[in-house]
Amino acid sequence: MPPIARTPEEWGEALLPLGGRPFHGRQLFRWIQARSVLDAERMTDLPKGLRAKLAGLELDRTMQVVDVRRAADNTRKLLVRLPDGATVETVLIPGVTGGRSTLPSPVPMPSEMDADAAAAPDDDEDEGEYAGTRPASPEPIRVTQCVSTQVGCAMGCAFCASGVAGLKRHLGADEIVAQVLAGRALLQDDERLRNIVFMGMGEPLHNYEATARALRLLMHPEGIALSARRITVSTSGLVPEIARLGADFGGNLGLAISLHAADDETRSRLMPINRKYPLGVLMDALRAYPLPRRRRITIEYTLVAGRNDSPGEARKLAKLLRGIPVKVNLIPMNPIAASTLGPPGLTGVLAFQRVLCDAGYSCFVRRRRGDDVSAACGQLALLGVKPKVRVDRA
Ligand code: SAH
Ligand code: SF4
Repeated sequence: MPPIARTPEEWGEALLPLGGRPFHGRQLFRWIQARSVLDAERMTDLPKGLRAKLAGLELDRTMQVVDVRRAADNTRKLLVRLPDGATVETVLIPGVTGGRSTLPSPVPMPSEMDADAAAAPDDDEDEGEYAGTRPASPEPIRVTQCVSTQVGCAMGCAFCASGVAGLKRHLGADEIVAQVLAGRALLQDDERLRNIVFMGMGEPLHNYEATARALRLLMHPEGIALSARRITVSTSGLVPEIARLGADFGGNLGLAISLHAADDETRSRLMPINRKYPLGVLMDALRAYPLPRRRRITIEYTLVAGRNDSPGEARKLAKLLRGIPVKVNLIPMNPIAASTLGPPGLTGVLAFQRVLCDAGYSCFVRRRRGDDVSAACGQLALLGVKPKVRVDRA
């Protein structure tokens, strides 16, 4: 197992030939996962000789942050280069709701529009982490990080830059977790990592093993220690793996489904995966997901002008989802260079939302944060950005 993806126990074993003891494995794991420290020299509670041998492993070679773009709303998009030269992206999205926001929303939002990160887990499901321990200083700004799981994507969705690019390769669990380590190392003093969403490049459930290991590492109590309900995995609808995710993680993990259409014909045109797993079996998989009470599945619906955005389609969607505990996020399509598809106008978006609200659904319009830094799925990594700065190494 590559270093960044090792558990404390695996580290313990790996250190034996270097003269380390099992408890050194735990210490090393904590340096890496809890503190983002990859420089062995800084791991002061490890014996000097062991540190010298660890330096030879080049723990920080998993990735380099080669570009950081900051949007007006303080969303930061990190372009990350992997050892083989491939690039992926990860995005830090400061919260607008809950805690403090760094900046007011630059766009006036009509009522019921929600400027929060796409599908960030709701704070209405929060159990009040700060209750009773409210510090004198202001609460930290809650940051959602969006991570990538593949270089490109094999699913070929018509509106998606990653889909148009095709799959280059899967990421390893170490490459997924290293995005979080790098992101966390760049947080401001007044920010705290609160949620992780698997909504960057790639289809996480097409890379199930690495995604599952990364999830376990992110939740490890001695590491990043995020609870399952603070992590959301977004999928285009790989039915067998949705069941597997539910069985492996018990349904507490946030699940987001990229639906984008309410009938098979439209959906297959936008998302080829629908030919393999049509809406009937996908809806059955959602009904079978072991969702705890009061949790809901997030339905993502990217509105594409003239393709899936009519009020009739909104009514079909309301009917399709009946009886399933969901909340719906409407995302006006972010234009991509490789396609002439685009978003509907605001009136169309609000009319679509109105139908779903009237049918009794929680339905939000999500602006894609950081549009001015190409923060939509896969866009930056596909621009061929040249390396500018190197800012990792905690
Ligand atoms: N492959 C996974 C996760 C990554 S995509 C999935 O499809 O769910 C994250 C979300 O961004 C998905 O809902 C996807 O459909 C949406 N998306 C991709 N390209 C987009 C674009 N150009 N505009 C708006 N949403 C987009
Ligand atoms: Fe892949 Fe998701 Fe993009 Fe579809 S929307 S091509 S599944 S990354």
